[in-house]
Amino acid sequence: MTDSNCIFCKIANGDIPSATIYEDDLFRVILDISPAMKGHALILPKNHCHDLTDIEEATAAKALLVASKVEKAMMKVLSCDGVNLLQNTGAAAGQSVFHLHFHLIPRYENDSVTIPWTTLSYADGEANELAAKLKAAL
Ligand code: 5GP
Ligand code: ZN
Repeated sequence: MTDSNCIFCKIANGDIPSATIYEDDLFRVILDISPAMKGHALILPKNHCHDLTDIEEATAAKALLVASKVEKAMMKVLSCDGVNLLQNTGAAAGQSVFHLHFHLIPRYENDSVTIPWTTLSYADGEANELAAKLKAAL
């Protein structure tokens, strides 16, 4: 299903042109219009879903295979030293387009990309308690 108000639905389904790297029945992979690094790509499912919480099973099953294929092409063509695979769910996590997409960002030793966070720590027993709560909610 597509959403007529969604720009990524239009791009994924070819109604708006894009610099496309890969396309199959479920996905289109395009270059990000404002790349963190040249070659920064977005994996767009053709069916509209908001984020990873409402992904369809067939899309989920194939997404990492597509990511792997594109990463290999990036390594070969861009000679990058690494790649970040990122997905933001929710504005608080940095999502700005509410059609699920996976970022693939080529990385080089000492490049200009920053994906920082500061680390916290758990009190004694807290990690196991939280893991149990999350496990019960699956
Ligand atoms: P988010 O912040 O939602 O995880 O990422 C949205 C990404 O989509 C951003 O990196 C932004 O540059 C990219 N983007 C937004 N609009 C367009 C567009 O019309 N075309 C392309 N190629 N990328 C877009
Ligand atoms: Zn959409």
